[in-house]
Amino acid sequence: MSDTCNRPSRSSKDEPCGGKPPAKKAAGARGAESAKAACQGTPSPCAPKPSPCAPKPSPCDSTPSPCGAAAAKAAGDGGPLARFQQMIPNCLEYAQAAKAEGRPIVGILCEFTPRELILAAGAVPVCLCGGSADTIPAAERDLPANLCPLIKSTYGYHTEGTNPFLEMADLIVAETTCDGKKKMYELMGRTRPMHVLELPQKPDDPTAFDHWLAELAGLKADLQRRFGTEITDDRLRDAIRLMNRERSLRRRLAEVLERDPPVMTGRELLDAKSNISGIPCDLAAYEAALEELARRPPLTDGTRRVRVLLTGVPVVHGAERVLDLIEASGGLVVAMENCSGLKPILEDVDETADDPLRALAEKYFHLPCSVMTPNTRRLDSLRDLARQYRADCVIELIWQACLTYDVEVDHVRRLADEDLKLPYLRIETDYSPSDSARIAVRVEALFETIHSTAPATKGGAP
Ligand code: SF4
Ligand code: SF4
Repeated sequence: MSDTCNRPSRSSKDEPCGGKPPAKKAAGARGAESAKAACQGTPSPCAPKPSPCAPKPSPCDSTPSPCGAAAAKAAGDGGPLARFQQMIPNCLEYAQAAKAEGRPIVGILCEFTPRELILAAGAVPVCLCGGSADTIPAAERDLPANLCPLIKSTYGYHTEGTNPFLEMADLIVAETTCDGKKKMYELMGRTRPMHVLELPQKPDDPTAFDHWLAELAGLKADLQRRFGTEITDDRLRDAIRLMNRERSLRRRLAEVLERDPPVMTGRELLDAKSNISGIPCDLAAYEAALEELARRPPLTDGTRRVRVLLTGVPVVHGAERVLDLIEASGGLVVAMENCSGLKPILEDVDETADDPLRALAEKYFHLPCSVMTPNTRRLDSLRDLARQYRADCVIELIWQACLTYDVEVDHVRRLADEDLKLPYLRIETDYSPSDSARIAVRVEALFETIHSTAPATKGGAP
């Protein structure tokens, strides 16, 4: 199937490194060769000594980044988000430079982990979620085959030692979310330094919040002890400002997809999510992209694309196959509600709060993940996003054996049917491409129904 949005169609096999970090041995060489010189040696945003998160000017505030010119050049040379086509090499170079400067690398595996605390400790938070099918056979030597591919892929990288970010991690912060992850961490923790956050799962229970706050205080103490640093309130506020700025830029980029006809694809937006937060060059690239996208002509091929609200499990780097199938079948993912999309960036942390740790706990405890019960915030968010992005349908992606999201399917389907009055499609799959043709047929059938019930205006107009 051809990509009708003037952008080369990409599979996980085409990804330079997405979700499939380069093998450990080659990593250093490739990072050194391919990374953008403009970002090389850029001072870390929140390095402990001297604290650049201190009084302005600081790389943690909104001062224009030294990468601005490079980002703008990249925008001119290869499109507004060209930098992110090299996301993994860029992150690798950044992490290697940070490590060489003495900054610890901290792996994270879930959006409940507050990156702000890690940044305020002078460390670099790196997402370690696996998106490659290649590491799953190795994982299945220890884990049951009937387990979510995201968990197996992440674990396979661990046993194979092929994720350079994991290999350079000084600590992994994990959390008690779904059963599969929670138990996988026990196996990983045999040989890796781990800190497991206990996430209470009744978000409306006041005692649950107090417990969560105590858990974050425990993480703060552990980071201070392990890395011999002090996380002062000022440093935490600076990291909060940095992350708020990143969230705000990513929200504004996502809002570009409100436009109809569109000027970018959902895949382009997804690619702009970096595995490391707070990289100054990434923030500069977001700003340059926003300017460029404001001038970009609509992507049209004479047929109106079906506007899709995608929800369900995270779509990590390397596992974008279903999104690509949707967009290659005449759809446009205008909003992605999941953890790789809007879910973690819809709410900011209160920068003015007297107690920044409490403010942090509040933001993260509101995350509407299916491990929470009840998880009504997710339905509220879906309702708002469907209206804001004028979705024509809801497609829910479920990774095989993800029980929490799969049970919530019933709530989401009812919301689509009874409240939003939108067609709904559930797609359950794993990281293997073997069912791609079947998924494409189902997606195309959905789109045909939508076109036949509401004939679209030709030429890409609404
Ligand atoms: S879906 Fe839930 S468990 Fe998975 S990353 Fe998001 S918050 Fe964490
Ligand atoms: S997709 Fe589901 S099963 Fe997999 S890690 Fe996330 S919550 Fe757990």
